[in-house]
Amino acid sequence: MAKDKKLSLNSKIIITLLTGLIVGLIVGDTRVSDFMKEMIVFGVFNVIGQVFINMLSMLVLPVILFSLISGIAGLGDMKRITKLGGQTIVFFVLSSVVALLLAISAAYIFEPGRGMLISDSILNTEDVPGFAKVIIDIVPKNPFLAMKNGNMLQVIIFTALIGISISALGKKVQNTITLIKQINKLVVKMINMIMAVAPIGVFALVINVFAKEGFDAFIPMLNYMGTVTLVLLIHSVLVYGGVLKLMKLKISIFLLKFRSVFLTGFSSSSSNATLPITMSTVQYKLGVSHKITSSVLPLGVTINKNGTMIMQGVATIFISQAYGMELSLATILTIIVFIFVATLGTAGIPSAGMLTISVVLAQAGLPVEGIALIIGVDRLLDMLRTTVNLAGNSVASMLIAKGDGKFNELIYNDPDAALGEEKTIGEFGQEISINKCYINQLQEDKVGDLSEE
Ligand code: ASP
Repeated sequence: MAKDKKLSLNSKIIITLLTGLIVGLIVGDTRVSDFMKEMIVFGVFNVIGQVFINMLSMLVLPVILFSLISGIAGLGDMKRITKLGGQTIVFFVLSSVVALLLAISAAYIFEPGRGMLISDSILNTEDVPGFAKVIIDIVPKNPFLAMKNGNMLQVIIFTALIGISISALGKKVQNTITLIKQINKLVVKMINMIMAVAPIGVFALVINVFAKEGFDAFIPMLNYMGTVTLVLLIHSVLVYGGVLKLMKLKISIFLLKFRSVFLTGFSSSSSNATLPITMSTVQYKLGVSHKITSSVLPLGVTINKNGTMIMQGVATIFISQAYGMELSLATILTIIVFIFVATLGTAGIPSAGMLTISVVLAQAGLPVEGIALIIGVDRLLDMLRTTVNLAGNSVASMLIAKGDGKFNELIYNDPDAALGEEKTIGEFGQEISINKCYINQLQEDKVGDLSEE
């Protein structure tokens, strides 16, 4: 078959990621000429990498707007919306508590900050909002400004309200519902087109990170990096693996189908930019209905970041150890509460968690300059924690879908479930790539569809 001869998109991404990593480390070596570094890697590849991130980011607003509206509108009555919303928040809070307890315990067990040298802060933390401001700013004064500023939590609040209103109006706004559904299909098509160039984008991003950081920056920080990485791993196995086991699903299938999300999240360090790919993977490959995917994932990507919490938990204790400060139980509890608040305000973009950790440090009476210690190695950890943020939200939507009878195990277990396998004719006579599971999914989505009422 022709399909067997061609490398899959995922294989191409893995190959370019590894090549980018190796070439990046070689170029990062001081003996390589400045021309090579400045012009090719930090010049040409930097531009290519940033263009790829911009292409992904470009779709985030349309995905959130149209998917969330149609998702919530399709959920039906207020009772169901409240039930699903409540379940989502409960899962987020519980998994966050586990993440933080693991992070803080590990930081005390491995003591990564003992015997560290302290340098000056290079972060400007003047603009970091306080606790009250984070809460007040959840509701947008001007939704268009929120969209312009990329404040996703505010956009979600506004969009969710539109979805709820459409749901309440039902058939009276049927044309609007149909239009939003069609725009959704357009967005999926655009995601696929952008993913076709992902191998190039991933190569450019990874070569840049490794050429810039090299190995040297990492050596004195290995204990800290090891602790964060270990907790990220334990948390993923324990909580996400546990949820999959609870759902009686094969973990290997999840890992296999989720790899394009992992790879994009890893190389872009942005769960926002990865959101369009996460949504189509969770829906078309993992079997979660559109309604759940489109409501849980945009919310989760904004407020639920277990990976970021783990980094902030370990980093806060690490900084206290580096400065030789003893923390009381009350201070540790304050840290936990403020990490919750800080991650609410952490955008799903590279290094955002590095900025918001200053809220936690300031509230806990720890030196904000301590950030200077961890900033050098944060990019690599950011790559890892972003993938954990993505996995957490995807597993959450699977669990919630299962509880709601909207999880399609056939799609999950079908190794071929993906977009782009067969051709079909769309509503306007155009050819659309679609596979059997996509068709299943569309049929499944008609259950409870407003247009069917
Ligand atoms: N880069 C992370 C994300 O996009 C956020 C962070 O922890 O900095 O999920």
